[in-house]
Amino acid sequence: MSGKNKVVVVGSSNMDLVAKTPRIPVAGETLSGTDFFMVPGGKGANQAVAAARLGADVVFVAKLGKDVFASRSIDNYRNAGIDISRIEQIEGVPSGIAMIAVEESGNNSIIVVPGANAKLGPADVTAAKDDIAAATVVVAQLEIPMETVLETAKAAQAVGAAFILDPAPAGELSDELLSMVDIIKPNETEAEAITGIKVSDRASAAKAADVLLDKGVKTVIITLGGRGFMLARGRSKEIIANHNVKVVDTTAAGDAFVGGLAFGIAAGKPLKDAAVYANYVAAVSVTRQGAQTSLPTQMEVAAIMN
Ligand code: ADP
Repeated sequence: MSGKNKVVVVGSSNMDLVAKTPRIPVAGETLSGTDFFMVPGGKGANQAVAAARLGADVVFVAKLGKDVFASRSIDNYRNAGIDISRIEQIEGVPSGIAMIAVEESGNNSIIVVPGANAKLGPADVTAAKDDIAAATVVVAQLEIPMETVLETAKAAQAVGAAFILDPAPAGELSDELLSMVDIIKPNETEAEAITGIKVSDRASAAKAADVLLDKGVKTVIITLGGRGFMLARGRSKEIIANHNVKVVDTTAAGDAFVGGLAFGIAAGKPLKDAAVYANYVAAVSVTRQGAQTSLPTQMEVAAIMN
């Protein structure tokens, strides 16, 4: 079956335990927080929900424990309209969790315990090969084992699906993996971790993008926080500005961007249009609290585009 609109996300599922605090505590310090939320998160899950909420047909390939966090997460994915048939629950390992402190400025600090996410293996990607074969877009991030990310890239390449890599959390990437990436979407920190080039302005972003393009990545999108993003393809480098919004919480801004990009490409938008759309999706997400709770519908994105 042809996969118009079909997106496969291979990635992490976490439960986010979010505390609001006047500021991020330093080592050894105990602070009184001002609020608390428990919301499903994990970069893979966030991106799957982001694309599904916008209207993509999403299959999420993930691993969870058999605990209360898993039940909550799976209910949430089902409610978002995600195909959960490739989510497996395993014994003896906790579901992944993230402890997130959000300070009043909107900045955050996060501890991730991978749990079952570390058990998502290449065999799980192979088991999803029919879904990948039917997909227009395949997405992965780095909260799962690297060998699984590599297998995902190979599987996407084998069927001609666009492979989007969100290289987060930041780390080094092999040349083998980069050579199979259609679109890589680091933020400034991640771009520096991969290329060794500190990204602080247009020139340094372009230089970092060139390093990635030289390794065979077809398109580089470096997100620049409140300044929008750089789109780099071949010699072309463009910075596309952001929308002025009132920032409440930037958690999952990058995930909103990736979900918006995956949706846009799966829906048949040209690449630049899909990236511009993703910028709007991310802008809406920073005006709201939490990870998946902040992800907008198509109508909500349309409202700020007008
Ligand atoms: P990450 O969340 O991965 O650290 P960024 O901080 O670069 O990534 O943000 C990703 C995207 O989220 C940006 O490209 C932009 O679209 C949106 N965004 C982030 N911060 C803001 C902000 N202050 N105002 C508007 N949009 C923002």
